[in-house]
Amino acid sequence: MGLFKEGGEHQIQNLGNDKYNLTISIPENDDGRMARECPSSECSPGYFKVTLGTGITENHTLAYCPYCRHEAEPNDFATQEQIRYAKEMALREAHKGVQDMVRNAFGIGASGKKKLSEGFVSMEMTYKPAALPYVHRPFEDEVRRDIVCPHCTLDQTVFGLATWCADCGEDIFLSHIEAELAVVQLMLNDVDRRQTQFGKRIAAKDLENCLEDTVSIFEAAMRAIVRRAMLMRRDSADQIESSFKKLGNAFQSIDRTQKELNSLFGKNPLDEEVSEKLKSAFEKRHPITHNLGVIDRKYMERTKELEQEGREIRLSVAEISQALSDVKTAISGTYEKLIKG
Ligand SMILES: [Zn+2]
Ligand SMILES: [Zn+2]
Repeated sequence: MGLFKEGGEHQIQNLGNDKYNLTISIPENDDGRMARECPSSECSPGYFKVTLGTGITENHTLAYCPYCRHEAEPNDFATQEQIRYAKEMALREAHKGVQDMVRNAFGIGASGKKKLSEGFVSMEMTYKPAALPYVHRPFEDEVRRDIVCPHCTLDQTVFGLATWCADCGEDIFLSHIEAELAVVQLMLNDVDRRQTQFGKRIAAKDLENCLEDTVSIFEAAMRAIVRRAMLMRRDSADQIESSFKKLGNAFQSIDRTQKELNSLFGKNPLDEEVSEKLKSAFEKRHPITHNLGVIDRKYMERTKELEQEGREIRLSVAEISQALSDVKTAISGTYEKLIKG
């Protein structure tokens, strides 16, 4: 008799020579998402999730890393945690096998007791199996961003701005950007209701946060595009690192973005008209972020200037909505020119 019983919940097959095949199904999260990890050790963050039953469900032979586009069989994307879980489940199964072997060797029945003789001395032998080792369910980090691939419908979760669909390998970077911008738009749509419920101070804070998020999305997208464009033209890791050090937070300002893109790529891919509109939206953010909302003298002077020019300084829902749409145009234009062009 072998260590493992064939069949059962793990569909155990005896392959001969003490080799067995066990199928361990990895539990998914409550929301049906299963964690995946890029097999490439250089990949960062390398961790994502896919929703079972979405995307490519038949003949899925190749899967992709959303961050580095490493391609491998879907099974190769198991996380360390899932591998640990599978090993423990297999050990647990082996444990059961050992217990059965002991039972059978001594002819102990299901009662766990056996009478050894009927003579003068009657002896009972009891075999108490140890409790089976407890197997922890895989522990996974909290999710960050969910995105549905427009090409194959895979519903996936990634950290940061990923580029590739994990099932079909298509470039879905702009879908990510749109999803990010849509979140800010949803918050904006709620500002009026929150003003009625919580007052002007909260509504003003919401607007500041929405503008802040809009600028952050622009900055993150530009950094991702620039990094990819530099990789595509085969800049070395050192070159890229030193360029990014020099860049600092340049993409928080439209003027500096234009200047830096020019010096890096010899062209400015930002649309002129959109840039002008974004400049005034972006510059309203400055005093908010850097002085915790306390307006400084420099800002007051700048404000006077703007007022004299007849421009509105207060933030409005419409203005940030416009900025969201302008950011989208600016990002897709830059993407088109630096990556696709
Ligand atoms: Zn990867
Ligand atoms: Zn896809």
